[in-house]
Amino acid sequence: MSETSPKLRAVLEGIPTYKPGKPAAVGGPVTYKLSSNENPYPPLPGVMETAIAAAGSFNRYPDMACTALMNELADRFGVPLSHLSTGTGSVGVAQQLVQATSGPGDEVIYAWRSFEAYPIITQISGARSVQVPLTEGDVHDLDAMADAVTDRTRLIFVCNPNNPTGTVVRRAELERFLDRVPSDVLVVLDEAYREFIRDPEVPDGVEIYRRRPNVCVLRTFSKAYGLAGLRVGFAIAHEPVAAALRKTAVPFGVSQIAQEAAVASLRAEDELLGRVGSLVCERNRVVEALRDQGWTVPETQANFVWLRLGDRTTDFAAFCEKSGVVVRPFPGEGMRVTIGEAEANDIFIKAAETFRKEL
Ligand SMILES: *Cc1c(COP(=O)(O)O)cnc(C)c1O
Repeated sequence: MSETSPKLRAVLEGIPTYKPGKPAAVGGPVTYKLSSNENPYPPLPGVMETAIAAAGSFNRYPDMACTALMNELADRFGVPLSHLSTGTGSVGVAQQLVQATSGPGDEVIYAWRSFEAYPIITQISGARSVQVPLTEGDVHDLDAMADAVTDRTRLIFVCNPNNPTGTVVRRAELERFLDRVPSDVLVVLDEAYREFIRDPEVPDGVEIYRRRPNVCVLRTFSKAYGLAGLRVGFAIAHEPVAAALRKTAVPFGVSQIAQEAAVASLRAEDELLGRVGSLVCERNRVVEALRDQGWTVPETQANFVWLRLGDRTTDFAAFCEKSGVVVRPFPGEGMRVTIGEAEANDIFIKAAETFRKEL
């Protein structure tokens, strides 16, 4: 009898694996993790207590409809409940959107480099990735993206601000782009870092969704809201996209702890957004310091900065780690560094200064 292994779908071959940000070292000198764009602050007191209380009933399945959270979100954004869908992080919802729209023979367009989950979830679906290079300034090239649309295109991701470059697209150019995209192509505005934006010319995707039935907005509790470990994100979309999200959701995917912590975070928003404000100040401090040292830093509206280092990326990342901060290198391209606590940012600024002198 010949041994054969279970047959797997051919599309899984060569799939890039998602690289999580490297954790900080345990033991030895203190290192800070600036590799995953997390919020460095511990959970707010009220949020923590709510989560602990919710943990008391984890022998039960969670509320499958996420009722309290959905109501809170519907109120806050002024959208009907039927236009909302929660999921296991916004990556989970993004995967549902690809599953619901795209299969073999279809095309999914996104900028590159952008969020590394896009190629993975596209390839799993069997659709083809159409990667449109960022401009010289590391910004989405929306004209080229619109040019790339064919009758096979089913979905387009616009990551605003873009991970890992932090750059944004502004209102006029985004509207012009959306005018060019056929109304039967879904445009997903991935706004994972929305709360860190200070540029008034960057549009709120929810306002755009109201006027455009083919636009869907993705938001998450993982970044500004500091709940990365609880896995909860959501989409705002018109029918029939919202209905497709209900069909493709993993039943009971969002835990009760996550649901209740998300509601508590929304209710503690003033304090939470105060922390986000401090991170924005730190971001501006880091960018200024790097520019003073002579680095070219694209303007960032997120909680991270991007340095296009090319061949020197791996060396600089190793140097940062030795100095006490773990960063996120993309070998041969550049390095993304999350804005963390002031001490961590100080270490990074110092490391950048030293490394630059040795160039
Ligand atoms: C971090 C991030 C997300 C959010 O991921 P979750 O699954 O919600 O934790 C989504 N999109 C982008 C571009 C991100 O950087």
